[in-house]
Amino acid sequence: MGSGGGHRHARRSGGGSRTVLIVGAVVVGIAGVAVVGMLLTRGGSVHADVSTKPTAHYPGTTAAHPSSTVPTTTTPPTTAPLPLAGKVVGIDPGHNGGNFSDPTFLNQTIWNGRESESCDTTGTETDGGYTEATYNFSVAELLRADLTADGATVVMTRNSNTGVGPCIDQRAKILNAANPAVSIDIHADGGPASGRGFTVLEPVDDGINSAVITSSEQFGADLINAFQQTGMPISTYDGTSGVAYRPDLAGLNLTTEPKVLIECGNMRNVTDAAMLVSPSFQQAAASAMASAIVRFVHSEQS
Ligand SMILES: [Zn+2]
Repeated sequence: MGSGGGHRHARRSGGGSRTVLIVGAVVVGIAGVAVVGMLLTRGGSVHADVSTKPTAHYPGTTAAHPSSTVPTTTTPPTTAPLPLAGKVVGIDPGHNGGNFSDPTFLNQTIWNGRESESCDTTGTETDGGYTEATYNFSVAELLRADLTADGATVVMTRNSNTGVGPCIDQRAKILNAANPAVSIDIHADGGPASGRGFTVLEPVDDGINSAVITSSEQFGADLINAFQQTGMPISTYDGTSGVAYRPDLAGLNLTTEPKVLIECGNMRNVTDAAMLVSPSFQQAAASAMASAIVRFVHSEQS
C-alpha cells in the first residue's frame, strides 16, 4: 500500500494515521491497569526482562582405564547440545497495552537514527477490537518459551502488556545492550481491508546498522521461509516477495545486531484477523520465528 490511508502504524505517512478508533469498554479496561503499568515502566528507567535457562550439563567422562597402555579416548555426549545454548536472542513486542492511555508520552520526540519522530504509537487492532499490542506480546511470550527451551537467553523490551512504552529508540538500545546473536521486532499491520499477508521489514544502511545489513537480510530470508508454514500468505499489498526495506524505523535504524521486523498479518483483513487472534496461529507464528532464529544462528556459525 502506498502512503496515506489506513493505520499503517509503522510507515510514516504524513499525519492522521495514528488515531485508532477503539471501543469504549476497552479504554475503561485498560485504564484500570494503565496506572500500575506506568508506575512500573516510567520514572526514567527502562528495564529489560532477561530470562535464562541453565544450559544442559554433561559430566565429563571419568572412567578409569585399567591399563595405562590404553590410549585416552573421549566419549561424545549422548545428548546433543540445545540448539541455542549460549546464545542471546532479543525480542521486541511492538507497542504496549497501556499506550492508549498516555498520548503525551507517545508524542514525545525521539531520534530514530535518521530523523526525529514520535516515541511510539498505540498500534492497530482488529475490527473486533483485539489490539496489536496484545497480539505482539502474546506471540513474544510464546517465542520466549520456545527459545528458552532451546537454550537461549532471551531479552525482551517489555515485560507485560499493561504498561506504557518504552519508546522505540529505547527498545533498540535495550536489545543492543544485551549483544544478541539476533533480534526480532514483532508486529501486525493495519493495512487496507482487502490486503492479506505478512511482510518482513529490513534495515537500510545508515552507518549505525552498517555491520548488520547483510546478516539481517539472511535472517529475513530464513523468516520468510519459516513463516509460510503458518498458513499466513506473503503480503499481497506491501513489499516485494515478502520483503520491504525500511529506512524510517528506529528499531532497524538503530540496531547493532541482525534484526528484522515482521508484520505477521493484516489486522484489518477479516481472514488474517481470524488467524491472528487464534491461539493456535499465535503458537505457529512463534514456532516459525524460533525455527528461523535457530537456522540463522547456525548458518552464521558455519
Ligand atoms: Zn505495530
